[in-house]
Amino acid sequence: MAILEILTYPAPVLQAVSEAVDGVDDETRRLMEDMLETMYDAPGVGLAAPQVGVNKRIIVIDIRSEEDNEIIMLANPVIVESDGKFTYEEGCLSLPEFTVEVERKKEVTVKGLDVEGKEVVIDAEDFLAIVLQHEIDHLDGILLVDKVSRLKRDMYRRKVKKGLKAVKKEKSERENI
Ligand SMILES: [Zn+2]
Repeated sequence: MAILEILTYPAPVLQAVSEAVDGVDDETRRLMEDMLETMYDAPGVGLAAPQVGVNKRIIVIDIRSEEDNEIIMLANPVIVESDGKFTYEEGCLSLPEFTVEVERKKEVTVKGLDVEGKEVVIDAEDFLAIVLQHEIDHLDGILLVDKVSRLKRDMYRRKVKKGLKAVKKEKSERENI
């Protein structure tokens, strides 16, 4: 396994729509494992392939909660059902020093292919549902900066240009997804 570089805004690969994978082969499995290791190293609780420079529809998640401690590695994830509303202040590994309150669905049912290439269905609620929606947004090139006004987005872009790189590794109290 290897730790990959996490790309940050405004890298174009983060803003592109990713392609579905054609089944889960060894290369995809290796990417999933590298993404998981990269996510733990960051540290974060979720990571999508575009964040490591690959425009493929692959996500990894481990929210590390006691009652639901499950590693999720999914290819081609799709939300097939959703319900309710849940608002949470989100951060993102690709957007250092940026958080925003986002209203999302409280419950989602997600279908996808697991690490063996088998179709799985995941029923999630609350924080896990938020992380799944956040990561699937990444696969469509949607970032948290797309959830705020143009003015705020431009301000953040300017801040990044001025040299946010120096604080890239800074610790945040929030979970990075
Ligand atoms: Zn993110």
